[in-house]
Amino acid sequence: MSNPTWNLEPSLESAAQVQIKPQYELFIDGKWQAPASGTYFATVNPADESHLAKIAWANATDIDLAVSAARSAYENVWSKLSGAARGKYLFRIARLMQEKAKELAIMETLDGGKPIRESRDIDIPLACNHFFYYAGWADKLQEAFAGQQFEALGVAGQITPWNFPLLMLAWKVAPALACGNTVVLKPAETTSLTALKFAEICQEAGLPAGVVNIVTGYGDTGAALVAHSDVDKIAFTGSTAVGKQIQKACIGTPKKVTLELGGKSANILLEDAPIDQAVEGIINSIFFNQGHVCCAGSRLFVQESIAEQVVAKLKFRLQSIYVGNPLDKNTDIGAINSKKQLETIEKYLAIGLAEGAEMYQPDCTLPSQGFYCKPTLFTDVAQSARIAQEEIFGPVLTIQTFRTMEEVVQKANNSPYGLAAGVWTANGARIFGLSSQLHAGVVWANTYNKFDPASPFGGYKESGFGREGGRHGLSAYLKFKN
Ligand code: NAP
Ligand code: MG
Repeated sequence: MSNPTWNLEPSLESAAQVQIKPQYELFIDGKWQAPASGTYFATVNPADESHLAKIAWANATDIDLAVSAARSAYENVWSKLSGAARGKYLFRIARLMQEKAKELAIMETLDGGKPIRESRDIDIPLACNHFFYYAGWADKLQEAFAGQQFEALGVAGQITPWNFPLLMLAWKVAPALACGNTVVLKPAETTSLTALKFAEICQEAGLPAGVVNIVTGYGDTGAALVAHSDVDKIAFTGSTAVGKQIQKACIGTPKKVTLELGGKSANILLEDAPIDQAVEGIINSIFFNQGHVCCAGSRLFVQESIAEQVVAKLKFRLQSIYVGNPLDKNTDIGAINSKKQLETIEKYLAIGLAEGAEMYQPDCTLPSQGFYCKPTLFTDVAQSARIAQEEIFGPVLTIQTFRTMEEVVQKANNSPYGLAAGVWTANGARIFGLSSQLHAGVVWANTYNKFDPASPFGGYKESGFGREGGRHGLSAYLKFKN
């Protein structure tokens, strides 16, 4: 790791603190069960390509077993419990997650490549907080929806991506259980470990068998869960392309669907903003978690009068960014989650150059093993350029300029996506003016990538529909009768 500004000694978190089993089975009906096909796949550490464990591959037969277990647990146990009793289990799970926070953070970093600082300070605490938050709602649903009659949906099929593995699980499992549903969850192929550790936590919490089932796999595994006729709800977080397939598969069925999809979010910097703070915020908005963030501020719009100054400051700041071993507590940018994702990002770097944009990368040395990408800025980007329109899902920022508020609103909204946006200005009226005109589910002002369990999150347009988090997140798991 070379760095022109700092030269810190490595400060490595020890991987010896976690016990990863050589092989994981499926968690169905409270028990570990071998997959019907007898097939296992490897999960690797993207930081050095080392083998971590073998994971069971579930097919339609296993999905059927898991859905039956969830149905039986729903009908015989979970739907018969009071909200207070469900809340007690959720509190117990939240406390156990907190107790094992360090282990979960290291596991998340080993399996997914994100810096330990992020899994330790962001992913795991937020995941615990989601369970605490929804544990508190479990006996107050009547207050949440006063005057309304409702009931749980039944069995929820949940499918999560690899960028925030345990956090996305928490966003889905906690509200589902609080509302009285049972779940079958399929984690992403490259990051199953924390979901499997979560299954162990459910066992330790004494959660009744079948209330939570974890079916690992890739390829057809998720599609089999979506296609199962006894699933009442599909909650999906992932790419817009797969989200569209899921929506098609659910048309004409009674399944309730929520989709949390991709993004190409605009970060807007006005000339009156405190520039140094904004530069830090911009760095965070796109380089946090290697840019593997659905709501990453991947399109920066800078007011023309300050553009030169801001680009110079961003380049200077990038020179002191640490790219390297995710287990090093100094690391800012860890490993790209998979070889496939690294290839996608590299494809977009080539597209950006071919489109005539100017590329800047700091002069850092990447580790020789593993999947890494230098943080990248593109200037001279046309509004119609593919790098400004398509989700890259990596540490790549496009920079465009604007003169007026009307122009920036038009440019920012000229996207098939609408997940999030950021506004940087000292002028409060402009914050309200812009945020009401931007087509985005979340608009941050003078900050970015801030999450709270009480605050709903979700998209406009091709970024999906439905909200997770807050009271809104409960209604996604209830059927209203009036
Ligand atoms: P992905 O390829 O769409 O996969 C997401 C999940 O769906 C994985 O578990 C995947 O399994 C599974 N899957 C794949 N094909 C399926 C099918 N035909 N039917 C059912 N399930 C299927 O997305 P990803 O690459 O993991 O995640 C990155 C994407 O997620 C980005 O576009 C990002 O913006 C989005 N995201 C959105 C939010 C949000 O809240 N809006 C949050 C995080 C991420 P395999 O892994 O086995 O293929
Ligand atoms: Mg992995």
